[in-house]
Amino acid sequence: MFRAFLIKYGEIGVKGKNRHLFEDALMQQIRYALRTAEGEFQVTREQGRIYVEGLTEFDYEEALEHLQKVFGIVGICPVVIVEDEGFEKLCQAVISYVDARYPDKQKTFKVNARRARKDYPMDSMEVNAKLGEKLLQAFPEMKVDVHHPDLMLNVEIRGKINIYSEVIPGPGGMPVGTNGKAMLLLSGGIDSPVAGYMIAKRGVKLDATYFHAPPYTSERAKQKVVDLAKIVAAYAGPISLKVVNFTDIQLYIYEKCPHEELTIIMRRYMMKIAEHFAKEAGNMGLITGESIGQVASQTMQSLAATNEVCTLPVYRPLIGFDKQEIIDVSEKIGTYETSIQPFEDCCTIFVAKHPVTKPNLRIIRRSEQRLREKIDELVKTAVETAETILVEA
Ligand code: ATP
Ligand code: MG
Repeated sequence: MFRAFLIKYGEIGVKGKNRHLFEDALMQQIRYALRTAEGEFQVTREQGRIYVEGLTEFDYEEALEHLQKVFGIVGICPVVIVEDEGFEKLCQAVISYVDARYPDKQKTFKVNARRARKDYPMDSMEVNAKLGEKLLQAFPEMKVDVHHPDLMLNVEIRGKINIYSEVIPGPGGMPVGTNGKAMLLLSGGIDSPVAGYMIAKRGVKLDATYFHAPPYTSERAKQKVVDLAKIVAAYAGPISLKVVNFTDIQLYIYEKCPHEELTIIMRRYMMKIAEHFAKEAGNMGLITGESIGQVASQTMQSLAATNEVCTLPVYRPLIGFDKQEIIDVSEKIGTYETSIQPFEDCCTIFVAKHPVTKPNLRIIRRSEQRLREKIDELVKTAVETAETILVEA
């Protein structure tokens, strides 16, 4: 019965000129999200409202599912739009709307009329009262409840008239593209896809870098990361993923440095390389899935040590999250099932039994001195041989 959706979006902080940028980005993201849905859609803006209308037949559930992944959308209202052909016609339209949408009439309701057009011959209160009366006549089983109605019948009188009674929640946030770009360090784990999702939710476009270590890590492990990027891209838009061969760097660190410092030193090189790509792509920050104390390499001391190699800000949206809270988000956004597939990311031979938990920067830097002969060359090669994959949902 619905051919259109009325899109509600948060307006706090998007006044004046910013509002247009926000709306333009939102419309662009909506079009992008719907491009793979069946049917053709038209996205329009009118008096501070965004409408999505089906130009052809479309799959209601599918369209809704795609819209629910567009950041910036607060609510999605399936709407019936009718021409203004007088109050009698309006009453008929609302009555048939209720009849079709709510076969069970044992319900309470409230009419909530709004006039965007002040030349309408009745004011909102009058519309509420008269329309309510007509509904009660048409459906005597229904009752009015102005405080906690089962259905809130919104009737917005604009150029045309909008009738809707449902607001399906959207993901909130800001449209991707309104807040710059950042580089996500994406692994095959549970945390980093969630971290990317959370930053993209604030309007930030994502690029990503993944480090693999063939033959110690498999092709399946890499495919898993591509799959995760694809799921995140359904929210964040296309992601340019750099896949870096990290094997020689890892082996070299393994050969030269104390094994309990391996993870920290490895992580410092990951950050350096990711930052290189980030700057090259004009990103304004790095994103990781770290959370304080989750593992040895995420204590306050370890985070300080990995942070120290970067000049760009490092965003860690999960920093105060417990693992279960991260899992809850990953289940909600659909990455969890992929993340728990058992393909090793960083081969276990590179992981020390007793890693340092309180690395001392002076000691770490001294250990890194042992790499000075070859490390610059290895980093250069890793950067130059990185593969770029454009990942789209
Ligand atoms: P995740 O679940 O995201 O893999 P984790 O708990 O396994 O995280 P670490 O292995 O310490 O934690 O990694 C911390 C962060 O470093 C990750 O969240 C991710 O941002 C980044 N990272 C780790 N390994 C890789 C990798 N192979 N490629 C790219 N980034 C990585
Ligand atoms: Mg990991």
